[in-house]
Amino acid sequence: MRMIDTHFHIGVIPHEWQHILGLCELDTVIVPSDQMIPDYSTLDMVKDHYDRILTEKTENAHDFGIFNVFLAVTFPMWGLPVTLLDKGIDLMGQYIGKPRVVGVGEAGMDTVTVEHEEVVFKAMVAFAKAHNVPIIVHTPPPRHSPYLGREKTDYDKRKVMERIIKILVNSGIDPKKVVLDHMNKETLEMAWDYGSWLGLSCCLDKLSGPEIVSFYREYGPDRFIVNSEWGFSGGGNRSVPKVVVDMKAANAPLEDIQKMVFYNAKTLFNLPI
Ligand SMILES: [Zn+2]
Ligand SMILES: [Zn+2]
Repeated sequence: MRMIDTHFHIGVIPHEWQHILGLCELDTVIVPSDQMIPDYSTLDMVKDHYDRILTEKTENAHDFGIFNVFLAVTFPMWGLPVTLLDKGIDLMGQYIGKPRVVGVGEAGMDTVTVEHEEVVFKAMVAFAKAHNVPIIVHTPPPRHSPYLGREKTDYDKRKVMERIIKILVNSGIDPKKVVLDHMNKETLEMAWDYGSWLGLSCCLDKLSGPEIVSFYREYGPDRFIVNSEWGFSGGGNRSVPKVVVDMKAANAPLEDIQKMVFYNAKTLFNLPI
């Protein structure tokens, strides 16, 4: 069964794993450029990050059977100062029309109060809307704390999700151009009501295969997009094929599985594959 992984941080995925994925017929990936690059300090480094994905990372992946590598561009909200935002957006503008650059992302928020997250996220949503391209929206994962030492309440997932959805609604962007990624039990219902696509990230600190099966049972296959995200620990980047196995084991019809691991992503990103 052909598969797409829509959240594939290719720079940190070992070649052996990429080869296993290629052998599993996962032949297409979308690489969100990193929004968290603490050691970046200039836009030249961001440009270099985009370029490496579009050249050497793409060529390597091709050798392993991942024949199609697409890029989403973003401004790293952790790493570069907001004073570089306008220039960062100019840089994104130079890339968005290029072949294999299919959208914006990842861009999103992790906290209730950190102001620069909102400034950057609003700018990314406006950019996606202006260029009429999809946006991969990062929503807070359960055990992720980018700002050590802050109050726990600042990471309330439901509150952050409310904030994200409010910004999306106010922007007027078409929900069908949005994938709210890293869904979990706490946030899924709210996100469902917004009307966008919903990303199910299967890796150690997010969802398990059986949880994804249970969401499928409850909501059906039409709006879910399965991906691996960071996928660290225990081979998580192999999680899209693993989810296929879990869904087959649960007797889900092949047609439904194909929607969640291939066709929904192909539609959202309008992929020429
Ligand atoms: Zn993310
Ligand atoms: Zn990510």
